[in-house]
Amino acid sequence: MMKKHLSMLLSRLESFESPKPELEQYRTPGDVAAELLWLAYSLGEVDGKVIADLGAGTGVLSIGAVLMGAEKVYAVEKDENALEIARRNARSLGVEDRIEFINADVSEFSERVDTVIMNPPFGSQVKHADRPFLLKAFEVSDVIYSIHLAKPEVRSFIEAFTRDHGFVVTYRLTLPFEIPAQFHFHRKRLERITVDIYRFERKIEKAIL
Ligand code: SAH
Repeated sequence: MMKKHLSMLLSRLESFESPKPELEQYRTPGDVAAELLWLAYSLGEVDGKVIADLGAGTGVLSIGAVLMGAEKVYAVEKDENALEIARRNARSLGVEDRIEFINADVSEFSERVDTVIMNPPFGSQVKHADRPFLLKAFEVSDVIYSIHLAKPEVRSFIEAFTRDHGFVVTYRLTLPFEIPAQFHFHRKRLERITVDIYRFERKIEKAIL
């Protein structure tokens, strides 16, 4: 599947019905999701792999991962309504069999996976809302793809937080991210922000002989 085609399929999926600001329900735009998945795919971390999508929302990343050959995806999402949309979206592309939909808080998830892909809350509405996601990802996987705001203070937090948990940042890709003005505090029709797509990997301690 070409990146362009993936991006188009994902951008046509159904979005959040009534996004909840406290959960920071911003769906990942098709082009951003396609970049993340393409990077992960090209590094051999999607095809044939078991993947967790933490805070799966309407399923954009989960569905994209299956389209790129994932063997199984756990879509973990605490909002039941969002998960229902994710199910419908998966069915519309015939990929629901490879996705296990889990209606739970990310902290309750405990399966070991090959790769985590996620677009967690940015922590701009609820401070530090991204932390339980990062902590869970560090716990269940050695390889993590995650999307965060491209801001100096977020970057230094991510660098330090990953290092403190035995991970290293191996990629950081900066992209524009468009969100429709869905919340009352958005004045413009389309909010344009800039995000970083990261790849983190668990650091292997090499024995010194
Ligand atoms: N990953 C999706 C949605 C991103 S928005 C996408 O790429 O389009 C972040 C999602 O995390 C929302 O759907 C929100 O409901 C969910 N969420 C927020 N806190 C959560 C938590 N503690 N446990 C599980 N899901 C959570």
